[in-house]
Amino acid sequence: MSSRKTEDGSWKLQYRDNNNFFTSDFRLPTSDLLINNLLALMILDELYNRALNLEPLNIEEGIALYTTAPVEELMFVASRLRQRHIPGNTVGWMIDRNVNITNICFSQCSFCNFCRKKGSPDSYVTTIDEYKAKIDEMLLLGGDQLLLQGGMNPALGLSFYTDLFGNLKKLYPTLKLHALGPPEVVYLARKEHASYSKVLSSLVEAGLDSLPGAGAEILSDRVRNYVSPAKATTEEWLAVMREAHKLNLPTSATMMFGHVETTRERIEHLIKLRDLQTEKESGHYGFITFIPWPFQDDGTVLLKKFGVRSSYNGPDYIRMIALSRIMLNNIRNIQASILTVGKEIGMLSLHAGANDLGSIMIEENVVSAAGSNNRFSATEMQEIIKEAGFVPGRRNQKYEQI
Ligand code: SF4
Repeated sequence: MSSRKTEDGSWKLQYRDNNNFFTSDFRLPTSDLLINNLLALMILDELYNRALNLEPLNIEEGIALYTTAPVEELMFVASRLRQRHIPGNTVGWMIDRNVNITNICFSQCSFCNFCRKKGSPDSYVTTIDEYKAKIDEMLLLGGDQLLLQGGMNPALGLSFYTDLFGNLKKLYPTLKLHALGPPEVVYLARKEHASYSKVLSSLVEAGLDSLPGAGAEILSDRVRNYVSPAKATTEEWLAVMREAHKLNLPTSATMMFGHVETTRERIEHLIKLRDLQTEKESGHYGFITFIPWPFQDDGTVLLKKFGVRSSYNGPDYIRMIALSRIMLNNIRNIQASILTVGKEIGMLSLHAGANDLGSIMIEENVVSAAGSNNRFSATEMQEIIKEAGFVPGRRNQKYEQI
């Protein structure tokens, strides 16, 4: 439906039926302001309908939804889309343990409190005995996956990681390794003068099961130059994921927002992920999930040196979750980051298009170093999902129910 201004200044409604346009006889003797409001409502309505038909919305349409749509309408549309992708009432969760390989990192991103410089008294590289103790503890708690992340330590090359993965798989053949991320792959490829494909293939051969979408932050080089200038560029991050998808390595996509990015850059980030997902071969995993989380500012260089506070607030997070579901018409799972947003906003996210609350994270040291402390036990996680009106469904990293 649209509207047309007549010569006498009043307005008529136009509507379309089977590609024919009809003009109503109904005149609207009214102000431009009211008409603008009516038009805005009609435009939103059309965007909702197109989203519900799984059409890819463009950047301007995404911005229009983000800036003008009432949050309850976004939640309604996103919840219906969730049912298109994942019908039913089950909400996923999992048990895994985050172990940090090393905290030495040359990147020194301005939002990171976790990294240390080489030679720092509290720097470390985790030993095999420490892995064993942590894995044994995780197995007792029912987990079977390690999320292995950490810094980009200049002393560690590709053979360090392939040896580590190989040794862990020898000791624990059923253990799943969700490890590293595009920035580490870019760094290793540069260090070894090898292609991304070669680095990824070597890691997979050694035992890598899936690649986290770490280090995406905001896929805009303007933002990256500000918050993580030494890390992979936007194109490099996407290129690693493209190669991972060709190898049919399951991956996830992430976004850390609420710092120096603009609304346009947030929406562009979503569209870049969606575009890359369209390239994946049919039947390949591609991005299994998308996980947005807010920047945590506590004690970060970004706050102390540049005065950048987290712009996080609950309603904005809900809006981003809903918009992610609406814009990402080709990524099945949307995960709310309960670790960073806490119980209440996590629960509300499940009514805004999210279908997963992630892991109970037996150990987490990176975002908690910047002020995030919303950890839950397995029982608490299931109670939270039930309290929100859903059925908890424990899953693995491939989002298969177990
Ligand atoms: S966020 Fe990652 S890459 Fe950046 S400094 Fe911290 S550990 Fe290094």
